Amino acid sequence: MKQQSVIPGSTRDPAVSALSRRSLFAATLLAAPLALSACATASRIAPRAAPRVAPGTGNAFVRPPLAPLRMDIGRMTHITVCLRPFRAAGPRLEVENIGGKRLVHNYGHGGSGWSLSWGSAALAARLALADGARDIAVIGCGAIGLTTAITLQRAGARVTIYASERLPQTRSARATGTWSPDSRIADAEKVSPQFPALWEAMARTSYAMHRSFVGLPGDPVSWSDRYTLLDQVGPRPPRPTGAIDFAEYGHRLDDIVPQSRTLSRAEHPFPVANARLTTSMQFNVAALGARLTEDFLREGGNIMSMHFDSPADFARVGQAVIVNCTGYGARALMQDESVTPVRGQIAWLAPQPEVHYGLYYRSVSILPRPDGMVVQYVGDSDMYGVGIADETPDRSESERAIATIAALFTGPQTA
Ligand SMILES: Cc1cc2nc3c(=O)[nH]c(=O)nc-3n(C[C@H](O)[C@H](O)[C@H](O)COP(=O)(O)OP(=O)(O)OC[C@H]3O[C@@H](n4cnc5c(N)ncnc54)[C@H](O)[C@@H]3O)c2cc1C
Repeated sequence: MKQQSVIPGSTRDPAVSALSRRSLFAATLLAAPLALSACATASRIAPRAAPRVAPGTGNAFVRPPLAPLRMDIGRMTHITVCLRPFRAAGPRLEVENIGGKRLVHNYGHGGSGWSLSWGSAALAARLALADGARDIAVIGCGAIGLTTAITLQRAGARVTIYASERLPQTRSARATGTWSPDSRIADAEKVSPQFPALWEAMARTSYAMHRSFVGLPGDPVSWSDRYTLLDQVGPRPPRPTGAIDFAEYGHRLDDIVPQSRTLSRAEHPFPVANARLTTSMQFNVAALGARLTEDFLREGGNIMSMHFDSPADFARVGQAVIVNCTGYGARALMQDESVTPVRGQIAWLAPQPEVHYGLYYRSVSILPRPDGMVVQYVGDSDMYGVGIADETPDRSESERAIATIAALFTGPQTA
């Protein structure tokens, strides 16, 4: 069993991929009552941004003014629930021949589907084009299906997407929307020896592609600051007996992703013992999904509504090569019980365009997106939600999550 300490600046540091569940363990430790050595009111958080010099840096450092988060249950617009398609061995990326069709599987990306999409698409496209076919069917119109379809088009193929649902109805639309390339991507004890390097290749390809969307109209991909707030820093608790050893590969990307740092008390307004700050990529899923759909159609793609009950239904498509991007749907379609549901729920609050930072505190993550404030209770370990396929919203979970963050802004003052 692992027992590790938080290493500032490393990918084991919660702030490195601040809203990635695996990186957030430290914040759940020793959740002491709010250490209110400083003020915590919303009204004081924004205006207290007096210029300061960051200790030890020698540089003039102006603490950025932080617009307060309006964590009011009355501002909640809706709750969404989604299932992460987790596979212990990692995503299924392989070829199978069924009924005379060459089937390329590209499903099972856990909590990393948006992050890894382009890299996974590149691998699947290579397999699909290997025998020279240039008329390809893609089943699925979520993050994986769309990026796979576009990648195939750009390699010269004619592509038709077949899917029961398309964005924004697919599960991909219900994702948090943060760069989280190794979030519940695999069980470290069940992957092949080649998987870590394969993951790294996917992540690097994806990262580069996602960066090319930054600054486009509608900000489909952008960067935001993330604060990880800890009541106390301590050793990582041991993994409970029987818990999955979720793979952690973030350190492989240390040379390309922004790194986190601990903030001095003067550099943040939050009433906590420890705060870390990083800058992370975020996916504004509504805009990104629309952009990918438009790109695919503009480049000559076609989307057909079609549901496949079993592999026998693959005979209904004319193409000889099919890429299967059905996500959690693959469990039923392929009778693949290696696809394990990991439930996740998001409470959506009305957008706050003035907020440009995300936050993690006491197992709750916040991400400001143009389409809403994402409020998510992520549990005290990555086992939270594992094996649960119930997509019924639990309002009380969302209310508790909102109240947890509201306390940061409205708690008692001692300063
Ligand atoms: C709460 C939550 C938060 C998340 N946050 C993030 C995040 O911040 N960053 C990140 O990278 N990832 C995140 N993820 C993971 C990410 O959402 C998934 O990995 C990703 O959506 C998987 O995409 P997909 O295209 O494979 O599946 P889906 O979006 O489920 O798409 C599957 C497609 O296949 C179609 N389909 C399925 N079965 C059939 C069938 N039998 N016949 C016809 N069509 C079919 C569907 O209609 C759909 O079009 C999160 C997941 C959850 C649950």
